[in-house]
Amino acid sequence: MAREAQAPMPRHDDISSMISVQDARNGVMSKIQTLQAIELPLQEAHGCILAEDVIAEADIPPFASSAMDGFAVRSSDATAATPESPVGLQVVGKAMIGQRPDATVGRGEAVRIATGAPIPAGADSVVPIEDCREEGDRVQILRGVPMGKHIRPAAEDIRAGDVLVAGGRRLSAPELGLLAAAGHMRASVHPRPRVVVFSTGDELVEPGKTLEFGKIHDSNMYTLFGQVKEAGAMPYSGGTIQDDVDELKEAVLSHLSQADVFISSGGVSVGERDVVKAAFFRRGDIDFYRVAMQPGMPQGFGLIEGKPYFGLPGNPVSVFVSFEVFIRPALLKMMGRTELERPKVTATLEGPISGPKEKTVFARVTVEPSGSGWSAAPTGGRGSNLLATVARANGLAIIPGGVEKLDAGDEVQVMVFRPRDD
Ligand code: AMP
Ligand code: MG
Repeated sequence: MAREAQAPMPRHDDISSMISVQDARNGVMSKIQTLQAIELPLQEAHGCILAEDVIAEADIPPFASSAMDGFAVRSSDATAATPESPVGLQVVGKAMIGQRPDATVGRGEAVRIATGAPIPAGADSVVPIEDCREEGDRVQILRGVPMGKHIRPAAEDIRAGDVLVAGGRRLSAPELGLLAAAGHMRASVHPRPRVVVFSTGDELVEPGKTLEFGKIHDSNMYTLFGQVKEAGAMPYSGGTIQDDVDELKEAVLSHLSQADVFISSGGVSVGERDVVKAAFFRRGDIDFYRVAMQPGMPQGFGLIEGKPYFGLPGNPVSVFVSFEVFIRPALLKMMGRTELERPKVTATLEGPISGPKEKTVFARVTVEPSGSGWSAAPTGGRGSNLLATVARANGLAIIPGGVEKLDAGDEVQVMVFRPRDD
């Protein structure tokens, strides 16, 4: 073949063949849809976004009840009562918790009542037991009460027709309790995506198995498992796959009916064993491109029969950063979340960080409050294989494109991916 006919291999630092982080992200997000709402039992709906307003069908509480043990009375009967000149009332029945009162309260009458019991008809207040003296079937009221005293009105919390929980709200503990209080067993929510994770590489050995020379343990599977779970989605292992095109295709396709999202690591760069690329590029399902970022330059993304497929590079730090930048926001969008970003803080660097000028660099740092602001300390070298530098970190400091180096004392934007001591 004539030399001229060969397409020139783009250089790794050739800016013209790279797309920006923002463009890559926009490309991904434009293809991500929020998952259709499904009805889930309340326990399973915890942490999910409610798909639509839930309207209260009934008042909460459903009936007026007593806030004290005592006697339900007509306040006008005992307004003037004092310990020196008590007012005597006829006890005509009792109101017990969970039951309909066995009497109504007429003029000059009282019903013995327990905390939480329904207020009997005719009564408009409750005299606490310590302000009463029982004498057979009569009670002496020692202190008068104003109308409404010690009564918890019906509908005090929620009125029928009110919005009980608004659509778009994330269901956490109080919302689950409120839905249950209104009698709901289930809620219509955007479900957690089921994410099938694959690792690719002939060099990979599952943890627990002995390493022969030249092999390494598959760590990406576990990093991604954790990241998927921490995003609120449900990870499943698709297995550690050899660099074998047919094996990978078969594994991915066999999960199509249960998966909402696929993630693989390895096999997307320009090496001779680009297994992910070989498996899916020719099908036209996945685009492979270079993103002007470090780590995580080579990326693959597309839809396989409508399901998002993220082909990440294999280096462990590239995996972590790529997930943060592209996959986490996508999973949050699928779950109906509207805030897709990690919190960002502006921090003062405690040591220098650097990277290729033409790329956005994500540097591992520990970020913590310092004085009135934040400080960020680099956790070690910048090699994309150095996973321990991520394990020590809680933030990714961002060196924007066009900047090669930041020094101690410089300000930097940091994405905080967990609290300092978590
Ligand atoms: P690749 O992108 O497949 O060329 O892999 C890049 C580097 O990441 C190589 O050094 C691989 O050995 C390493 N690597 C790939 N997959 C994994 C994995 N699942 N766990 C740990 N290291 C990996
Ligand atoms: Mg590989």
